Amino acid sequence: MKLVLATGNRGKLREFRQMCQDEVVPFSDLLGTFEIVEDGDTFAANALIKARTIYEKLGEDYLVIADDSGISLPVLDGAPGIYSARYAGEDASDKDNLHKLIEAVKEKGLKSTPAYYTAAIAIVGGGQVIHDSLLCNKSQITRPLEYVVHGWMHGEVVDEPRGDKGFGYDPIFIPDGYDKTLGELEDDVKSEISHRSKALALAKPIINMLRNK
Ligand code: IMP
Repeated sequence: MKLVLATGNRGKLREFRQMCQDEVVPFSDLLGTFEIVEDGDTFAANALIKARTIYEKLGEDYLVIADDSGISLPVLDGAPGIYSARYAGEDASDKDNLHKLIEAVKEKGLKSTPAYYTAAIAIVGGGQVIHDSLLCNKSQITRPLEYVVHGWMHGEVVDEPRGDKGFGYDPIFIPDGYDKTLGELEDDVKSEISHRSKALALAKPIINMLRNK
């Protein structure tokens, strides 16, 4: 059963490939690129929307995983949160979003402030046969199983970007216990402590279980 990642984000794909022993294929390799409308109001809802959309197009031979993630600042009432990818507008780049967040922190008169990343990983696949006695012809239907797991990474954001590793908001995020931003820390440090790696650690047994069904 092929593992397909429902994302077009290159930073996420690179991290998933680094953290998974299995080969992870981006959905665009199989289906080309198209936009998935993420109109859920939680990370979990948006991760499920992405995973279900790709599963519906690929079918039972595939196991689809999707990550919906973002950064939240308590001082901004949790913003940008689920809007992290489009904080500075629909077609905003990672740089635009980063600079908008720096401006928001500066407007509060702060040089640094607590923040945390959230990752929700949805896993959809491993079709389950449902015997539905309520159906008038007493037939059976096949439905994919669906799971969502979460991971978090706490730290603080600073008012100036440092380093060019990682992606997104990493150049202004200092994880708890460190004095460097994720832009300055090596990739393998992030892989050990990130919201994504924590969620993936919970997702792995589910992926293995569904693959061996
Ligand atoms: P999504 O693709 O809709 O889940 O949006 C995720 C957005 O959150 C990205 O575009 C980044 O702006 C931000 N983000 C999520 N995870 C990370 C991370 O590990 N580092 C930096 N930014 C992240």
